[in-house]
Amino acid sequence: MDAPTISPERERQRLVLEAELEATGRVPCRTGSVVSRAIWTSDEAIDQQNAAERCGPCPLLAACRTYGLAWPAELGVYGGLTETGRRGGQRRTPASSARRRRRRTTPLMRVPEGPKACTRCGEMKAPGEFRRDARKSDGRRPSCRACDNLARRGLAA
Ligand code: SF4
Ligand SMILES: [Zn+2]
Repeated sequence: MDAPTISPERERQRLVLEAELEATGRVPCRTGSVVSRAIWTSDEAIDQQNAAERCGPCPLLAACRTYGLAWPAELGVYGGLTETGRRGGQRRTPASSARRRRRRTTPLMRVPEGPKACTRCGEMKAPGEFRRDARKSDGRRPSCRACDNLARRGLAA
């Protein structure tokens, strides 16, 4: 289970990071097409490794890494570190990869993952642009991260 209780401290730190991201403008994970940005939140280790390398020139690398290490439950790449890297640097063994696949395919394979329209902004976006929600039929929230982030700050239209 996720979502209902995100700690206030994590939320506070996330908003600080979000504000810094906006102030900085173009950072690698928010530059380029929807598809090219999706590697930061991909389930595939190879995608995340790719994304982690592209964090290199990001001006927010240090702050982003601090956040990602403080909250290892966050999905995806933060500050040049993959999910696995942030969770203790353990490399996946074939056995753990199989466990992970079994865990993940159950809820997520019910509907093939492809671009879908955000219910708030209406834009077609890649699956990685939607946060996970195991309760939804496609395993993702109906509204996109960008819209969710605005909604969290009470800025939604
Ligand atoms: S360091 Fe963080 S903000 Fe910068 S590109 Fe990587 S994930 Fe994005
Ligand atoms: Zn949206």
